[in-house]
Amino acid sequence: MDIKKYVKEIREKLGEKDNGQTEYLQAIDEFLPSMEAFLAKNPEFAEANILELLIEPERVIQFRVPWQDDQGNWRVNRGYRIQYNSAIGPYKGGLRFHPSVNLSVLKFLAFEQIFKNSLTGLPIGGGKGGSDFDPKGKSDGEVMRFCQSFMTELHKHIGPNTDVPAGDIGVGAREIGYLYGTYKRIRNYDAGVLTGKPLTYWGSQTRTEATGYGAVYFVRHLLNDLNDSFEGKKVVVSGSGNVSIYAMEKAAELGATVLTCSDSNGFVYDPDGIDVALVKEIKEKKRERISKYVETRKNAVYHDGQSVWDLKEAYDIALPCATQNELNKEQAAILVENGVKIVAEGANMPCTLDAVHVFAENNVLYCPGKAANAGGVAVSALEMSQNSERLSWSFEKVDGMLDDIMKNIFEICRDTAKEYGQENNFVLGANVAGFERVAEAMLSQGLV
Ligand code: GLU
Repeated sequence: MDIKKYVKEIREKLGEKDNGQTEYLQAIDEFLPSMEAFLAKNPEFAEANILELLIEPERVIQFRVPWQDDQGNWRVNRGYRIQYNSAIGPYKGGLRFHPSVNLSVLKFLAFEQIFKNSLTGLPIGGGKGGSDFDPKGKSDGEVMRFCQSFMTELHKHIGPNTDVPAGDIGVGAREIGYLYGTYKRIRNYDAGVLTGKPLTYWGSQTRTEATGYGAVYFVRHLLNDLNDSFEGKKVVVSGSGNVSIYAMEKAAELGATVLTCSDSNGFVYDPDGIDVALVKEIKEKKRERISKYVETRKNAVYHDGQSVWDLKEAYDIALPCATQNELNKEQAAILVENGVKIVAEGANMPCTLDAVHVFAENNVLYCPGKAANAGGVAVSALEMSQNSERLSWSFEKVDGMLDDIMKNIFEICRDTAKEYGQENNFVLGANVAGFERVAEAMLSQGLV
């Protein structure tokens, strides 16, 4: 069987069917070269046509979300849930509320989620959902009515053993609370249908911190392998949401100086190291813009309308934690000039494909999101376990389990890359290791 031809034909068919779904096809294009390598070694999976089957989402749900604003006007948004693959467990993945949300964005996110979830070693399939609703600038009442309307439809498609959503951009504790309350009222039971719940009802310790901490744990294990550590390192972080805040917190705790954070309006540079408590106060409590930061910290500078990735300054580690395609090829070249050694993605697909190529050509160790940011969903799966046994584990226990999971993910990515003669190619390592588990499960379930 001609593997190159087989993979190329799958891509061509998809390009025709999903023409214009740019982000989705980008995620596929990142994935397929790894599949060529894998299938050349394991032709039985190509013969069974698992790849083409897996690429087709099991179910795509789209629905109307009507809601009333504070002035009494009826408004409408689009809601989605992509139930991509359930071979290794119930669909699992966040909900994103952001104006950029469309089918392409959610399909890319759900596709990546399959392999991310597989890498955690826990029994969770891949899914994602959300809406083009923008919580920014909306009142609490508007957000509540939107969430209630969203769940009025979504509840028909989810359940603790079938599909378990969580948060993502624009969906934090407030939104999870309103969604959960609505599900409970309609279905008259609750346990475990959403993760990322507050600690007062079924939430897990460490879930809030998990994605950011997990990304830093991943890098710590990589550094450890190089007989190095975070101590004294300069770290540049983008974003100032949940992932970013806890990545900064853990990196600083491990002895690094975090120089930056950002939002969609601009970025802050603080030579003394970002004051994470202040960022929490601004973003988590007051829901204000990051420009407020420099009102308190006098040595810090706010760069309006600029990207963190345009910063020309020496640093060791970059953690893109904002959103997809935030770091392009030209900016990747700036990072190389700056002397960056490691780029680890806290966000999903923040680096464009071209940017990733620049890192590879310049021996920058690049850790793709599906491996480096798997900590969030991993602790979500631990939240599901705790909900099932009606128990809550301690912060130390969950944090320790998170660290072990990130260590395993790092090692499996490293070892798989080596096995394929492509040392340090963590993209290949993550894709192949993530795919293998799902593909084996599909085969054994007779899904071909
Ligand atoms: N939204 C997160 C992610 O991208 C977490 C999903 C979850 O906890 O289900 O992985």
